[in-house]
Amino acid sequence: MHPARINELVALDHQHVWHPFTPMRQWRESNPLIIESGDGDCLIDAHGNRYIDGVSSIWCNVHGHRVRQIDQAIRDQLDRIAHTTMLGLTHEPAVDLARRLCNLAPGHLNKVFYSDAGATAVEIAFKMAVGYWHHTGQPQRNRFIGIRGAYHGDTTGSMSVGYDETFHRPFKSMVFETDFVPAPDPFHTHRPPEDTTDRRWALEHPDHCAAIKDHALQALDQHLSKCADRTAAIVVEPLVQGAAGLIVHPPGYLADVADLARRHHTLLIADEVATGFGRTGAMFAADHEHVAPDILCLGKGLTGGYLPLAATLATDTIEQAFTGEIHEHRTLYHGHTYTGNPLACAAALASLDLFESTNLIEHVNRKAELLAQHLNPLRDASRFPYVGDVRQRGLMAGIELTIPGTDGATGFDPSRRWGADICRACRDRGIIIRPLGNVIVLMPPLAIRDENLIYLTDTVVSVIADYPFE
Ligand code: PMP
Repeated sequence: MHPARINELVALDHQHVWHPFTPMRQWRESNPLIIESGDGDCLIDAHGNRYIDGVSSIWCNVHGHRVRQIDQAIRDQLDRIAHTTMLGLTHEPAVDLARRLCNLAPGHLNKVFYSDAGATAVEIAFKMAVGYWHHTGQPQRNRFIGIRGAYHGDTTGSMSVGYDETFHRPFKSMVFETDFVPAPDPFHTHRPPEDTTDRRWALEHPDHCAAIKDHALQALDQHLSKCADRTAAIVVEPLVQGAAGLIVHPPGYLADVADLARRHHTLLIADEVATGFGRTGAMFAADHEHVAPDILCLGKGLTGGYLPLAATLATDTIEQAFTGEIHEHRTLYHGHTYTGNPLACAAALASLDLFESTNLIEHVNRKAELLAQHLNPLRDASRFPYVGDVRQRGLMAGIELTIPGTDGATGFDPSRRWGADICRACRDRGIIIRPLGNVIVLMPPLAIRDENLIYLTDTVVSVIADYPFE
């Protein structure tokens, strides 16, 4: 791109664009990176520099950028129609995709409601749950149980069940009350056993893990024992709480939550917006524990990370509660202009084809091992005293930076911008990553080439090694 055009874009951006999750004053003092194109695992800036897309364009890219088969599917669809509504009409890509999703999804999910963002998929799930109880004669079941620290998106409902005092305080008057239960979070809950030298002590210490899991489940069970009759659903991010800092739940927690939901006759909403589509090494994280949610929220990787599309899947039982005579007004009165956009559905179908033709899930599991191997040096506490914890599930990994000698709950001073500084230093070495506070996140495209995965991981490890923490 011509240098004059780059300068013009920066000036215009600073003048007119309000960026998401971005402190704007500091942004305007910075020199933003302009991405001009993509190629496989890489993003290419306006100067022609290449960067590995280390967080897969906010956790959504699956097969890489400019993948021939997805590009072609979108072009072919473009030759038919770019957009037509799903309100009172239907179209081939949406129908085909719905059938494919129902076949792939865990359990007995047989109905697909489309929208266009993870947050809207969650919002719709909430309306399905509350509406289901309303239409089946238990309208008092209208509250949700959320897991502390959860993130479900930024619309009002999803914000309510992912309430965070730091982010959401100004909007407290907007959110609805939610019943929060403790997260089964081995690293932040207690200090590590004195004798441990392994940095990933938390998840690998079976007694500690079991105790944390039991504590979280007991709290949920106790709450349900008192309040099940006012609970519409338990809402959970299966296996990994992403935005909370890649909190990996102890094995078996999800299956036990599903069991509690069943025993207390409430619904289970699985928010797989981040974990869905292969990220954890199975098509859906719920598959690892053979869990059949009543409602499943999908987004991000649904289109391979190409176009905005989300889906909320529900059982026939739930959908049937919304059927009846017109005058009964059971209809789910919810929809968005771009619901089930045909271009996005075509991209999603092409992405699902690629999952099959490239055996992608198998490769994810192999690459996850490679990632673990290359993160391994961080376990050496004498070389990396500021690395408190390394967590990984499939191709999602978090490296938590803490002050040596402190525990996970207190070991971070937010005024020290370690995470942001380290990610910025990685950029100079050809890597784009974005932290969650003091957690360095690695979440590359699932199809990342082995050599790029190794470069990404080794570079992050070496940038952390060189960083002046003192
Ligand atoms: N749920 C989860 C678990 C997420 O991680 C996210 C986004 N990171 C969302 C919902 C919201 O998705 P979106 O940003 O597409 O609204």
